[in-house]
Amino acid sequence: MTTNSPEYMQQWRKAHPVAVRKHRHQTYLNQKQRDPEAYNDTATVRHDQWRKHNLERARQQQRKSYARYREENLVEKQIYARRHPDRIRANNARQRASRKGAPLSDPALAQEYIAILDGDPCAYCGSHDEIQIDHVIPIVRGGSHDWDNLTAACRSCNQSKHAHPLMEFLCR
Ligand SMILES: [Zn+2]
Repeated sequence: MTTNSPEYMQQWRKAHPVAVRKHRHQTYLNQKQRDPEAYNDTATVRHDQWRKHNLERARQQQRKSYARYREENLVEKQIYARRHPDRIRANNARQRASRKGAPLSDPALAQEYIAILDGDPCAYCGSHDEIQIDHVIPIVRGGSHDWDNLTAACRSCNQSKHAHPLMEFLCR
């Protein structure tokens, strides 16, 4: 069975219901964007208006639909997690850091850190070249953006340390 045979496509669609629904929705959105007139004063517009005036009932329907597709979405989520464990880990770490109240890539704060680190040599090799802010415990490993987790590191050390735990990096 080749990958573009109708049987294969049918099986693929059966195995990926979420992707199929997403594709259908995207097609609808594309058509709507291309020809907005055709979608004026249609059921969609009336439904949008109805939603605005019946928020509580609309929410109920949304919950119902969520429950209906819950299993499918979970399966799709598991497939994604198996394919991209690193992305899931990074996302979890970001959420943990944000719960701890860590500012997420705030450029103003980063400038403040750099000003305070100014003149500090690389904590790992003592170099003064291209100093950057290093997270001692990397964010993806649950480290925070707090002061005690930040230090100066040269670009080279920062890059080779990357997401390695500190001890692993130092013992190499
Ligand atoms: Zn260095």
